Amino acid sequence: MTVTLTDEQHEFGSAVREFCRREVGSREQRDKLTDCGRQSHSLDLNRRVAALGWAAINVPEEYGGAGGNHVDLCVLLEELARGMAPIPWHGTTLITGGIYNRFAHEELKKAVLARIADGAALAIAMSEPGAGSDVAAMNCRAERTADGWVLNGQKTWCTNAHLADSILLVARTDRGEKKHHGLTMFHVPSDTPGLIIKGIDTMNGEEVNDLYFTDCVLPTDAVVGEVGQGWRQLMAGLDTERLILAAQMLGTAERAFDDCLAFITERTQFGQPVGSFQAVKHRIADLATEIECARLLVYSVAQQADDPSRSTNLSRASSMAKLKATEVSKSMSLEGMQLMGGYGYSTEFDMVHHVRVSLAATIYGGTNEIQREIIGKSYGL
Ligand SMILES: Cc1cc2nc3c(=O)[nH]c(=O)nc-3n(C[C@H](O)[C@H](O)[C@H](O)COP(=O)(O)OP(=O)(O)OC[C@H]3O[C@@H](n4cnc5c(N)ncnc54)[C@H](O)[C@@H]3O)c2cc1C
Repeated sequence: MTVTLTDEQHEFGSAVREFCRREVGSREQRDKLTDCGRQSHSLDLNRRVAALGWAAINVPEEYGGAGGNHVDLCVLLEELARGMAPIPWHGTTLITGGIYNRFAHEELKKAVLARIADGAALAIAMSEPGAGSDVAAMNCRAERTADGWVLNGQKTWCTNAHLADSILLVARTDRGEKKHHGLTMFHVPSDTPGLIIKGIDTMNGEEVNDLYFTDCVLPTDAVVGEVGQGWRQLMAGLDTERLILAAQMLGTAERAFDDCLAFITERTQFGQPVGSFQAVKHRIADLATEIECARLLVYSVAQQADDPSRSTNLSRASSMAKLKATEVSKSMSLEGMQLMGGYGYSTEFDMVHHVRVSLAATIYGGTNEIQREIIGKSYGL
């Protein structure tokens, strides 16, 4: 398997790296953007990324985007994560934008994609208290009226809802024979009367929200795509969604590795750098090898997504990329913490941040148990 980036893609990666070094290279800069870590995502930084023409990296040019392919997308997200740019949820914006791009009517598509190019955040609400991994079991209802729809119910874990000016909602419009039937997507402005957005406390600052809908009225043209086709529309973007998450966690794994290596090279005990002890050196060798495997897999899947003739089973491959990159990031950051001793556990260093974001990434976007289910099923099991 070979993974070749073009000269332009190499140059793009260097430009993003340099941007991160300049804009968010220090803890002080990141603290300023995130209210000392209380906000996980900085819209201010998102807009600066947008001003460079990068935010809508994979949005078609006619809608204000850069028209990039899947490899370009991965280069951007990998480097932003490696540079610790505090816009981790730009991935959610791009995942949501992909659905508008494929299914929204022209006027809505134009408006929403232009917001991505401006650096805005988008949100998507699927999960409910009773419907997580089994998300098709959702109950949040949209009932048709003479001139539109009325929403009632609850969603949970909605990333970006407190920042976004609209939310892409998946709701039940019908009870079909199967739970996947009768689901429909809606464009819901965040200031819709009857919608309450309430933050959920997590280990990573403000990022996710509960949503409560009480008699929220939507116009007929709030439907995104086709009535009753919500499940099919969700499935259509899953490969890109998993790739986006994988590229981000590849970047986090690389940053955890860089931070750990810098520390163990400098830190001396028993008169020598701790990195020179064979036990430590071998763990670093294993972790570096794992990260390289994840990198090859992520870019191989990106190239398959760009050229489907190179792919035998993109769904399986994208699940593998999400599984591998998130697990590597988790083991790298946990091992990094151990190899840095007490300093890895201290919030003075960034390893604590890498552990937190890596743990979450094995859960959202379909837990890693669900990714294993998908991969297993693809072999007929
Ligand atoms: C930080 C964060 C951001 C998120 N952002 C969003 C968002 O923007 N929009 C949105 O809609 N949702 C979002 N989610 C929700 C996320 O997609 C769900 O948390 C995830 O799908 C798991 O659902 P659950 O938490 O209800 O866990 P459950 O489904 O209850 O699972 C509990 C455990 O059981 C395991 N399990 C469940 N079913 C199986 C099975 N068949 N086989 C083996 N093991 C199984 C799971 O892997 C897990 O370990 C987010 C979650 C987090 C933590």
